[in-house]
Amino acid sequence: MIHWMHHLQNHLSSIRQRASSPRPVLVLFDIDGTILDTRHTLVQLLQAYDAHTGSRYFDGLKCDAIDFADTELLDRLGELGAPPSAHSEVADFLACASRDWDRWIHACEPYAGAMEVIAQVQRAGVVVGLNTARPEAVRRSTLAALNRAGAALNVGFSDALLFMHSGQPGLAPTVAKQQAVLRARAAGYRVAAMVDNEPENLEAIRGIDPEREILLLHADTLYQSRQKDPSIPLVAGSSYQVEHLVDRPRLESGTQWFWGGVESETCLRGFLESPAHQTELDVWPSAGSGKLMVGREGPAEATPLSLQDTLLCLVAMERGARLRLPGSAEVLERTLELMDMLCLGATPGFHLSIPAPADGDAAAIQSLVADSNLGIDLQADPWVTDLARSCNQAQARVAQWQGLGIQGFSFQWRDDPTLPRAIHCLEALGAPQHIEGITNLEAALRTVLFAPASASVHFATPALRPLADDLGTSQPAAGRMRA
Ligand SMILES: [Mg+2]
Repeated sequence: MIHWMHHLQNHLSSIRQRASSPRPVLVLFDIDGTILDTRHTLVQLLQAYDAHTGSRYFDGLKCDAIDFADTELLDRLGELGAPPSAHSEVADFLACASRDWDRWIHACEPYAGAMEVIAQVQRAGVVVGLNTARPEAVRRSTLAALNRAGAALNVGFSDALLFMHSGQPGLAPTVAKQQAVLRARAAGYRVAAMVDNEPENLEAIRGIDPEREILLLHADTLYQSRQKDPSIPLVAGSSYQVEHLVDRPRLESGTQWFWGGVESETCLRGFLESPAHQTELDVWPSAGSGKLMVGREGPAEATPLSLQDTLLCLVAMERGARLRLPGSAEVLERTLELMDMLCLGATPGFHLSIPAPADGDAAAIQSLVADSNLGIDLQADPWVTDLARSCNQAQARVAQWQGLGIQGFSFQWRDDPTLPRAIHCLEALGAPQHIEGITNLEAALRTVLFAPASASVHFATPALRPLADDLGTSQPAAGRMRA
């Protein structure tokens, strides 16, 4: 079965191909139950009741226990632990507390992947608007909460494209949603899709779309209404997965292939026979011969290659390499001497990557970096948490290394919010960032959404192999994707 986000990707592509007018393409998202999981707010409201009254009905209540739309809450209080005698008091408390929208509106969290999907749609040049039945009275706090939720992914929602319920008495949400679409069209947009968790809202949209131009996407989360007309095609999905929204041409044009690593003579031959122009080499000092070697240290079956022979071979074949060094001033010094001897001191095809040194080693390594003409980047993983917090000391370190000539800062991929925050901090300092160690498509696409200067992706892993084939490379080991 085709994933609902893949339907959206296909629909947007076909609209772009058919588009005869320059009208910007717009996708509208409902907010509650579609982008935001409102159960977080419900749990906080109910626990606030407990705190207010000293009861413990909702102690330990988790979002997962709520399997109904928020509009059904008052009828389902018993299932969540409140005795019948308390229902009217809980209802009064909720009615009173929910008037203070600004307090609760920030408790909602986006569904997993929802912001990534919106970021990907926006990156593809499609405009995203919000079509919600929330009242105009909460416009400012709604916009602020959503923009904050999307900030790490560079997602932005505009005031002009936040369509809300006017507050007109008796105006049904379905009609308010229709009016929003008509207003977007009047403002010059081509409305391509609407995503909503209530089927009745989507059915209403069909009523004002005789051209059948709007793809109706049903967020199959929690909802109250039922589809009345089965002939209206709703495309349903319960998870947002950005990998189904891959914009292949954009990905292709932003990917530069390189050979993922040379570990043996056979591997080196493979690289030289491939169309890739660059590779990555892990450098290590041999305890036996004292020479600098490349590849992975230790495998008995592999014949290690000397760094000098490998570099000579690469130069002869007009190929380049990024050399990853261990954290040792001695290895750095010897590598720089070797590259100087081979006249690779300022060759653009070669550069080094060194780990951020511990404070004790920093002075020796800093003086070598300052004297070198080679491009060198710093593996800054130990600093990621401090950079994410925009800690002054970490920022000062970055500035110091930039002053010595460090060209950029690299991090291993990690699936937590510190990575995008660290990237944004470095961006603000004017320092290029590179993300490594990505082995699946979702991580690759999410990383590109964070907009680092570049990201290395191992396309040779089984999960990414089909995409590499799709992108038309015969034997890729890895690729560098640019934001
Ligand atoms: Mg909704």
